[in-house]
Amino acid sequence: MVQEPTLFIDLNALADNYGVLKQKLNADTKFLAVVKASSYGHATAPVAQKLVDLGVDYFGVAYASEGAELRGAGIKAPILLLHPIAAHFEQILEHNLEPSLYSVSLMRQWIDFLESKNIKDYPVHLKFNSGLNRLGVAFEEITEVVSAIQGTDCLNICSVFSHLGASDDPDAEEFTRDQIKRYDSFYATFTQKMRDNNPQFKHPWRHICNTSGVLNYPEAQYDMVRCGIGLYGYGNDPKYDRLLRPVAQLKAPILQIHQVATGQSVGYNHGFIAQQPTVIASLPLGHADGLHRIFGKENGCVWIHDQPAHILGNVCMDMLMVDVTNISCKPGDTAVIFDQQHGAQDFAEGAGTISYELLTGLSKRIKRSIVP
Ligand SMILES: *Cc1c(COP(=O)(O)O)cnc(C)c1O
Repeated sequence: MVQEPTLFIDLNALADNYGVLKQKLNADTKFLAVVKASSYGHATAPVAQKLVDLGVDYFGVAYASEGAELRGAGIKAPILLLHPIAAHFEQILEHNLEPSLYSVSLMRQWIDFLESKNIKDYPVHLKFNSGLNRLGVAFEEITEVVSAIQGTDCLNICSVFSHLGASDDPDAEEFTRDQIKRYDSFYATFTQKMRDNNPQFKHPWRHICNTSGVLNYPEAQYDMVRCGIGLYGYGNDPKYDRLLRPVAQLKAPILQIHQVATGQSVGYNHGFIAQQPTVIASLPLGHADGLHRIFGKENGCVWIHDQPAHILGNVCMDMLMVDVTNISCKPGDTAVIFDQQHGAQDFAEGAGTISYELLTGLSKRIKRSIVP
């Protein structure tokens, strides 16, 4: 029984998933836990603290404010800031975040910023665009990158990394192998050029794999991997989902039950019209909670007493209605939106979306509760 909509967080499942991913890795491969977007919608501080206890080497976040939140929660581990922007430079420095330098212009701005503060050897990570075409420097920019780095003593290039675009897709194996090849060649050329001018230049470590990279291309683990979704229990493939355990479980109480006669409608704009006598249950979750309208019109299916109940009509801002015609239930009974048996991936798939979008979209007003 739940009193209110609650996202239960099972930190033991997190530990198990970490173990599953670690098993794919060599003992000395570093592990960066991606905790952007409030640890994929979970609960940043307890999740991050658990990951520290488990022994992760690094954290990854998208925004400087997310790094600041980790520091506020007492996390001392190094934090890679994946998508920094110049407006946040002060915050990056204040919280000792390590920016990904993904363009020549960002690199120059960051160098100017550090030089204006007289800071030396600041840890940064150079990002190469190997084919995702999102962020990263181009192969053709190597000379510019090298001369920018060699023109200053304010940078410590900790790593050179890239990001895979389709590591979860077996049909894209050739594309993925190609990305890895391009990355290898960027790395070799970059380090060669750095050494030509400075034989002391230390080889930065390398990383390209996200969760599906680790699962499908473990041979490309290099010196570090960056895992998000796998830690939270999803492997982008049923065969990996079976090895992992969902960390989050979303449950809500039934607030009210209505008998709807044939021809009557349910919800805004007559989103559902009963073709036969129908029993519906109202649940206190809506699009403001991240259960988007796309889950309406029977695309989403929740579980009540382990029986499927489809979402009828349009999802409201704070409420949704499900079909319980064939389920014996009463107000106060628990509806499971997703749990360890009926995962978020399945719920998401019903509406053509993915676990990532569903989890990260869960709003702050849903209570988080750590499972003991
Ligand atoms: C989000 C992100 C990851 C994590 O990916 P998962 O598929 O969740 O493991 C890794 N690297 C970068 C650059 C990312 O943006």
